Amino acid sequence: MTVFLSGVQKDLAWSELEERVKKCTRCALSSSRRNAVFGEGSRTARVIFVGEAPGADEDARGLPFVGKAGHLLTQILSSVGIDRKDVFITNIVKCRPPENRAPVPDEMMDCAPYLEAQLALLSPPLIVCLGNTPTKWLLKTTEGITALRGRWFQWRGSFLLPMFHPSYLLRNESKKKGSPKELTWRDINALREKMDALAGENIKGGRSS
Ligand code: SF4
Repeated sequence: MTVFLSGVQKDLAWSELEERVKKCTRCALSSSRRNAVFGEGSRTARVIFVGEAPGADEDARGLPFVGKAGHLLTQILSSVGIDRKDVFITNIVKCRPPENRAPVPDEMMDCAPYLEAQLALLSPPLIVCLGNTPTKWLLKTTEGITALRGRWFQWRGSFLLPMFHPSYLLRNESKKKGSPKELTWRDINALREKMDALAGENIKGGRSS
């Protein structure tokens, strides 16, 4: 059953969700984190970016993608005219795993309801998964990011695009044809085109109604 919430109800639900994440002790990551990282960006975002987990910088500041990888993500977005403030950025798990290891399935299972609630409240037409972990989790697949990146998938009424994680790009400097950076350039342009196409459809829909 679809439940429709008013703007005020959505604001209240969002604030309550954020408070719950900040105080959450559902999994063991709560004992080693400094800050839970709820996410950051526009509440009316047309695109939500989902990464794996906060790193050291994010844990220290309580904000997503603020270290080197985050800086690169901001650059990638601005290269096609997307302002970071206009999207929403979060992770599969909201607390930093020790030593920056990947989150384990139990941790993702415990934390997933928060991402599910964020996706339900934002209801974005576009979702971008950054790297293997969010791609495999949301698409429920064992295929890796190299095979899946750059392809559009349907996800509960949204379009979902897997892309390489910016930290992977930091480890792969080449910009040659077929390199991770060059492929990411193609992917971010594909995202830009999809955003423009959806915006065009909305304008046409508005005019015809
Ligand atoms: S990772 Fe998620 S489930 Fe675990 S303590 Fe943090 S917010 Fe709670």
